[in-house]
Amino acid sequence: MGKKLDGKKIAEKYREDIKILINNKLNLGYNPPCLANILVGNDGGSVYYVNNQNKLCEKLGIKVKSIHLEENVSQAELLEIIEKLNEDVEVQGIILQLPLPKHINEDYVTEKISYEKDIDGLSTISTGKFYKGEKCFIPCTPKGIIELIKSSNIELEGKNAVVIGRSNIVGKPIAQLLLNENATVTICHSKTKDLKKICNKADILVAAIGKPGFVTADYVKENAVVIDVGTTMIDGKIQGDVIYNEVIEKAAFVTPVPGGVGAMTTTMLLKNLCEGLK
Ligand code: NAP
Repeated sequence: MGKKLDGKKIAEKYREDIKILINNKLNLGYNPPCLANILVGNDGGSVYYVNNQNKLCEKLGIKVKSIHLEENVSQAELLEIIEKLNEDVEVQGIILQLPLPKHINEDYVTEKISYEKDIDGLSTISTGKFYKGEKCFIPCTPKGIIELIKSSNIELEGKNAVVIGRSNIVGKPIAQLLLNENATVTICHSKTKDLKKICNKADILVAAIGKPGFVTADYVKENAVVIDVGTTMIDGKIQGDVIYNEVIEKAAFVTPVPGGVGAMTTTMLLKNLCEGLK
């Protein structure tokens, strides 16, 4: 029987550090940090994520400008809001919750967030710097996964890591961060052949698919570390990609959903906001 990789508990330690950082800045006469988050429509996972952000900001003393737009908002209106937030001197970080409705060009709009406020590191400039190993905001979910693994004293160097999913927001950047830690990385996707066989070789298995219950115990090698990134809202309940109860019988560590990666993601977002570009 493996252990739960408790993102909630580990995130708590990072939150204490963020609080100290904010207090130090306030004592020096700075204003509290300010986050702007934009949500378009009512995607279940996104609403859940933004609500968590807002609650956590309140807890840590971070100011939030939370903008919730109708599903049918035009691209031009959204761009105007982003432009205003770029110019707003009070705002240090902007997060545009993805996915956006189909009529909005996600890549085009994301690009309009100023690089200095792009705390989720999704713009082309941030992405270029990230893959070149230059100073930039590291995308929050992958950053949270690495911090979760490292603070649990799990060794990555020389390990076989398999990532299921190749999105720009999770799959590709987590693969890069695992590579930076000297793991040997395989990226899988919907066209991968013999997926189960590949996963069975993974010391570290990251599931970022968005298909609840996809990863069963027979995908998992004995004593593997299994990271469940999936968050799909079903009947008001958040569901991961991994069947936790089954997989924990075989793996060494598994992240639960909720209380795993998601808890770390929000915390990393606020860490990026408060630390600025390092
Ligand atoms: P995405 O853009 O939809 O990517 C999903 C990936 O899964 C794609 O690369 C897709 O392959 C792959 N895939 C789909 N079906 C597959 C199959 N049968 N076998 C192998 N691969 C398959 O999703 P995303 O944005 O990366 O997010 C993934 C999940 O993580 C979602 O549930 C999302 O809500 C969640 N998420 C959670 C957090 C958090 O903080 N916890 C943050 C971000 C996202 P193709 O490329 O071939 O289509």
